[in-house]
Amino acid sequence: MRKKKKSNDYSSMRCPYCGSTVVYRSAKGIYSKRYEKAMLYVCSKYPECDAYVKCHPGTRIPMGQLADKKLRTLRQQAHKSFNRLFESGLMSRKCAYEWLSETIMLPQGWTHIGELGEYYCNEVIRESENYYQRIMKEHRIGA
Ligand SMILES: [Zn+2]
Repeated sequence: MRKKKKSNDYSSMRCPYCGSTVVYRSAKGIYSKRYEKAMLYVCSKYPECDAYVKCHPGTRIPMGQLADKKLRTLRQQAHKSFNRLFESGLMSRKCAYEWLSETIMLPQGWTHIGELGEYYCNEVIRESENYYQRIMKEHRIGA
């Protein structure tokens, strides 16, 4: 008998890397002690397949697709490049996010870098670096 598919049933999700089923569990043993209470969807082949995704706090809704180490590193890099735009004081955080969604044409609501896939992460890094260099240059000329 085939199970009825429910679109909001995330436990029927598959790992995008190896196709295995995913397990809903705490982050114990994956995150550091401080964050081990977070809930995750983890590839059932973990740790051979190092793919998982965090849930929105207090829900069973995953923050996007499962990510492997490569994608997680890429997301960190994207955050770093992008955050520099407002952390450096060159623009406000709000402006930076508006600029980002216009520049890489993110679908509305996709404002969390933590949910982006490889393609969008690379775009964020490339565009943020370019933009930062451009503003810095203008500042130098204006000074
Ligand atoms: Zn997997």
